[in-house]
Amino acid sequence: MRVYLSRPDITEKEIEAVCEVLRSPNLSLGPKLPEFENAFAKYIGRKRAVAVNSGTSGLFLCMLALEIGLGDEVITTPFTFIATSNSVMMAGAKPVFVDIDPVSLNIDPQKIESKITANTRAILPVEVFGNPAGFDRICEIARKHNLPVIEDSCEALGSALNGKMAGTFGTFGTFAFYPNKQITTGEGGIILTDDDNLADMCASLRNQGRGKGGGWLSHQRLGYNYRLSDINCALGIVQLSRIDEIKAKRRQVAKWYQEILAGDKRLIVPAEQKGCEISWFVFVVRLAEESALKKRDKILEEMRNDGIQVSNYFPPVHLQPFMAERFGYKEGDFPITEAVCKSTIALPFYNNLTKDEVALVCRELKKTLDKNL
Ligand SMILES: *Cc1c(COP(=O)(O)O)cnc(C)c1O
Repeated sequence: MRVYLSRPDITEKEIEAVCEVLRSPNLSLGPKLPEFENAFAKYIGRKRAVAVNSGTSGLFLCMLALEIGLGDEVITTPFTFIATSNSVMMAGAKPVFVDIDPVSLNIDPQKIESKITANTRAILPVEVFGNPAGFDRICEIARKHNLPVIEDSCEALGSALNGKMAGTFGTFGTFAFYPNKQITTGEGGIILTDDDNLADMCASLRNQGRGKGGGWLSHQRLGYNYRLSDINCALGIVQLSRIDEIKAKRRQVAKWYQEILAGDKRLIVPAEQKGCEISWFVFVVRLAEESALKKRDKILEEMRNDGIQVSNYFPPVHLQPFMAERFGYKEGDFPITEAVCKSTIALPFYNNLTKDEVALVCRELKKTLDKNL
């Protein structure tokens, strides 16, 4: 591979912080856990944070804390990473999909209300690729129908809409720290809320149902182990302390791509919409012409053969085999999502990608488009 899709950005400071925990007796449930949670809550601007072992676990605990389960419906988007709807299904509830807005690629606020039923228990929107567009409208609809919003902000750490941070729109905000995210803890996630009762419930559910002030072997409710170790938290603390630098580096990489690819009529190049600040998570271009869509997979394959790691973020969630089988979703159910899914090319994107590497990726992309379109 000449250029990778994603690479973590770990400095000596992160390594030193992790080693410091390893030299201490507190590998888990030590001081780094509250330190990470407090720093994170402060950065996003929310009252409480509960760190967990993945973003998926975080979403799942939001479902449990809201007592969403069998017979319940959660409205969400079919254009996302599978974790979004998996969290709904693992809780026993049904994901009810709403097609996306073709510009923002987020759930289309105008199409939400017609999907609300007596069984709807929450709305689960995603800031896809870090774009917060439409979240003000989504929250208005949720308020009108008295529904909680579980915000899957896992791709949007540091994004904002009209100055309001991603992760502050919902009853819950959730973030993830897998190595391709803006910041990483190796594996990890975090739940944010302003509601003390819900935060305490999530903290209990992640820790075998232990209650506040209770003993180690006193279990107030059915819980499980979704804890994040102090080793991971130490890594997260240093990564979070670098968030401004990380955002700036990613913004620069996005700008290089935008400058080089501007004016190429074969492509839709991502850009910030009015009022939106994107904290760049990935850089996904789309084939502009309907007739080009059937060539997309060949384009991806040829670029990979040329040593440029690219991806097809995302295939439609509703057409994943287990989904289609369980709920009977089929091709044509969400036409905008399906067309967008056939058009995407995720380009290499990470903090330390150089200008020369971006230029190389763009040259290879243009060469492949010349050949195929
Ligand atoms: C990354 C991500 C998650 C959580 O992923 P984990 O690997 O479980 O941390 C959830 N939703 C979306 C949209 C994501 O991109």
